[in-house]
Amino acid sequence: MATIFTKIVNREIPAHIVYEDDLVIAFLDISQATPGHTLVVPKQEYKNIFELDEKISNHLFSVVVKLAKAINLSLKPKGLNILNNNEAVAGQTVFHYHIHLIPRYDAEDVTFKLVDHSKQLDHSVLSKRADLIKSAL
Ligand code: 5GP
Repeated sequence: MATIFTKIVNREIPAHIVYEDDLVIAFLDISQATPGHTLVVPKQEYKNIFELDEKISNHLFSVVVKLAKAINLSLKPKGLNILNNNEAVAGQTVFHYHIHLIPRYDAEDVTFKLVDHSKQLDHSVLSKRADLIKSAL
């Protein structure tokens, strides 16, 4: 079954589209977490970053940069977050890969809570962790 974003690509449901080319579409997120909250989406359905083709990701990220600059110029936020949720545990609700551009006007308008564990840092554990990641590349 087509995802909600494919339905936007196919004009089966409406959206405020701000950018489109052969491979990528971008439109305002319906939730507007902050004014100008935008989603950048590959037209082809990839469930998440683990399935994303690296060739499309290069192009997709160039569109993300272009749009971040356009949002910055036009809406004049004080900053901007880029967010991508992969799998339900990370907050993904639409299983068609997408990147959120979230302009920030105030430190309180969105909450992300990253806990700092640097005080409990064990370099031997980190070294093994880094080796595991490197071995999978
Ligand atoms: P996720 O939680 O998967 O990272 O983000 C999905 C996003 O898609 C949410 O922020 C949600 O507001 C947005 N969204 C869901 N359905 C629609 C829709 O029909 N139109 C638009 N424009 N955005 C949608």
